[in-house]
Amino acid sequence: GARDAAPETIFDRILRKEIPSTVVHEDAYVLAFRDINPVAPSHVLIIPKVREGLTQLRFATADHAFVLGKMLEAAAKIAADEKLEGFRLVINDGPKGGQEVYHLHMHLIGGRTMKWPPG
Ligand code: 5GP
Repeated sequence: GARDAAPETIFDRILRKEIPSTVVHEDAYVLAFRDINPVAPSHVLIIPKVREGLTQLRFATADHAFVLGKMLEAAAKIAADEKLEGFRLVINDGPKGGQEVYHLHMHLIGGRTMKWPPG
């Protein structure tokens, strides 16, 4: 569909290792790497390797349930690896949601005390 034809993002280049990143987890379904502009001592981006229909979380369907689950599984593993006492998972959706890169990604943020509500 039209959404699948969305232009490539910088994350496709990171997936192809054309742009270097600090990878903290990789499996058949997801890649996780450190955010280039961290907002906390630990700030990791977890992305699906296949972006079909997943430029934004709002386009997710039951067809994506497995990879969405793999993203959460990766988050749990990374949080343990990073020995985080507490952490937060964030998905920004759309311009009003603060999304800048249109390839679904989850932010894993930790290493400092989180405030609620967020800004
Ligand atoms: P968004 O605002 O779309 O939720 O988050 C995009 C994130 O990608 C931002 O936190 C930004 O710092 C990060 N980012 C953008 N370009 C790069 C890059 O080339 N490498 C890495 N590691 N992170 C990036």
